[in-house]
Amino acid sequence: MKETALRIRLFGDPALRKKAKSVKQVTSAHSDILSQMARLMYAGAGIGLAAPQVGINEAMIVADIGSGLYKLINPKIVKRQGHQITEEGCLSIPGICIKVKRAKKILIEAQDEFAKTLTIEAQDLLACVFQHEIDHLKGKLTIDYASLFEKLKIKKKLRELKKKAKYEGLPQSETKSCKLQL
Ligand code: ZN
Repeated sequence: MKETALRIRLFGDPALRKKAKSVKQVTSAHSDILSQMARLMYAGAGIGLAAPQVGINEAMIVADIGSGLYKLINPKIVKRQGHQITEEGCLSIPGICIKVKRAKKILIEAQDEFAKTLTIEAQDLLACVFQHEIDHLKGKLTIDYASLFEKLKIKKKLRELKKKAKYEGLPQSETKSCKLQL
């Protein structure tokens, strides 16, 4: 995979609705993709990014809420506790913030880029980010959580984004309207 081939896909791109396949054998190619994903995440001022967002149909995510970079392969939530509601933006749906109710505390099992098994306990913002990214691996987006009222409100914007999805690149100007980009 050429480095230049990776770019953030926007709402309307079919890659965002595909279910990611689990990675059977971790190779250096996965490690390369994770590094490129991290670069794109930082470039977009994001705090999380999932492989389907760069058009890769494999279960990989990156996240960094300021306390260190996570590069996870085959992440699975094995335990959930409590609730939190966070207003979430998405690098693939610029300009749209949706309040999403998620677990407050989660336990994740995953592999790192060297195929080592990890167990991670996450809460609050980090738990929110992991749940958002794992949703991406299932083809699920924040807008799927929107209320009917919110859906009506964002309808026009989504239509515009779908048109933009055909072109390369992220409309950076629109990413600032949400505090959190995942
Ligand atoms: Zn997202």
